Amino acid sequence: MTSKTEVSDAMAKRTLKADLIVIGAGSGGLSAAAGAAMFGLNVILYEKAEMGGDCLNYGCVPSKALLSAAKYAASARESAKFGVTSGDPVTDWEGVKAHVHGAIETIAPVDSVERFEGLGVTVIQEHARFADPKTVVSDTTHATARRIIVATGSTAFVPPIPGLEDTPYVTNEQIFSLPKLPEHLIVLGGGPIGLEMAQAFHRLGAKVTVVEMGRALANADAEHAAIAVGALREEGVVVLERHKAVKVAGTDGNISVETDSDGSSHTVSGTHLLVAVGRRAVMDGLDLEAGNVEYDRRGVQVSDKLRSVSNPRVWALGDVAGKGQFTHLAGWHASVFARRAYFKQNSKASDLPLPSVTYVSPEVAQVGLTEAEARDAYGDGFSVSAFPFHENDRAIAEGKTKGEAKLIIRKGKIIGASVVGDGAGDIIQLVGFAMSNGQGVQALTNFISPYPTRTEVLKRAASAHFTPKVFGKSGKRLVGLLQRIP
Ligand SMILES: Cc1cc2nc3c(=O)[nH]c(=O)nc-3n(C[C@H](O)[C@H](O)[C@H](O)COP(=O)(O)OP(=O)(O)OC[C@H]3O[C@@H](n4cnc5c(N)ncnc54)[C@H](O)[C@@H]3O)c2cc1C
Repeated sequence: MTSKTEVSDAMAKRTLKADLIVIGAGSGGLSAAAGAAMFGLNVILYEKAEMGGDCLNYGCVPSKALLSAAKYAASARESAKFGVTSGDPVTDWEGVKAHVHGAIETIAPVDSVERFEGLGVTVIQEHARFADPKTVVSDTTHATARRIIVATGSTAFVPPIPGLEDTPYVTNEQIFSLPKLPEHLIVLGGGPIGLEMAQAFHRLGAKVTVVEMGRALANADAEHAAIAVGALREEGVVVLERHKAVKVAGTDGNISVETDSDGSSHTVSGTHLLVAVGRRAVMDGLDLEAGNVEYDRRGVQVSDKLRSVSNPRVWALGDVAGKGQFTHLAGWHASVFARRAYFKQNSKASDLPLPSVTYVSPEVAQVGLTEAEARDAYGDGFSVSAFPFHENDRAIAEGKTKGEAKLIIRKGKIIGASVVGDGAGDIIQLVGFAMSNGQGVQALTNFISPYPTRTEVLKRAASAHFTPKVFGKSGKRLVGLLQRIP
């Protein structure tokens, strides 16, 4: 361990020596840098753009802030059915943007240069690249360290669709700052980002058409994805599935997307185009070859220990590690790094099941295997136990009865779960907790769930698994009645 970062002003570039170099101040890099600094290590953190990375500036935070504004518009439209008349909502786009950017500004100090310098981290706001396997350089620095973390994240993948490069389009980096609310937004891509933006803009008053070449929310449980996509359609979002975009053309305010669906051609016309067809790892200008760091299309090649397969000094965390694209995954990666590097624990990236949530209304949440993945892995060697929201008293009271909790069970173990419905992202946490701590399905029956909460659906789904064994098939109704008694 070096006692202090050594700085030599004598050379053209500052020569720095530290215990840890982190490239990228997003979710993964910031967590790793903060952890190491708290252990008293010397840390150098490079960031070429905004502190906080994608999640804070162009991802999770603005998207959830936009969705919350859109929820108010939806509530106003729905309120009459609750006996409250509030009239048609009017969107003040400048006001919505002020809310979105206010959320970013409120969180930003936690990720700021000032906070990290306060923790003792040397923050260098420059593009970093490898000069050799143990050296990282930027315009003004030349740094070496025992460990180097690459946490450079991902960016919107722009597919090679004819005409796209010559047509005005936006990605997640511009969508939250558009000068005007789009009249008709075309969204390329029906994944979580595409659908979240589709619902938010539609609720705020835009016409929205989603063009998806396969199935929307393809990684989610198929039945649950269909419930969420159906809800979007009922609200008026046009979701075209199995429509491959084959040509894009147009000018500002006048865009057309030609699609191919099972051999027939369609044209979608709109005023704005959002490209949200996936993400690509950011490795531009990192000179990974100079660092002897192998990589492929998905990102830096790392083992389950998150260490580079070719340079043991180098680790990769977050989106650039090619193991999934979530802020909570990047945070977990930073934790795996700290456990291995400083506590000598044998932690691995795959140690814990990874939850994912799509924050449309109704939310879609998943942890572990989907039913289809379980079928691929175990054939018929598993069971599914489900419980619908329309039998949950809280959902009934709030008039939000679209949804279901589904547990995937094998030999008493929960191997996966999916929840669709209001609050699904919060409900799934309990299953993630049980799975992460080796608790079987029985554990989900063995606690007092406060009444009336939506999370009761999990207890009911878990209990339903035991119903035939305890009461035989006819006992189903009896169990239902007993479970209403707290
Ligand atoms: C619209 C949208 C919504 C999302 N919503 C959610 C959500 O609700 N929940 C969730 O869990 N995830 C969400 N995500 C994903 C989440 O934002 C990412 O998984 C997360 O930001 C990844 O963190 P990271 O540290 O790997 O990378 P990033 O946060 O992207 O940070 C990487 C940083 O590295 C910097 N950098 C890159 N190259 C260099 C270099 N050579 N030198 C110096 N600096 C460099 C970049 O400027 C960037 O700041 C969303 C993403 C998008 C786009």
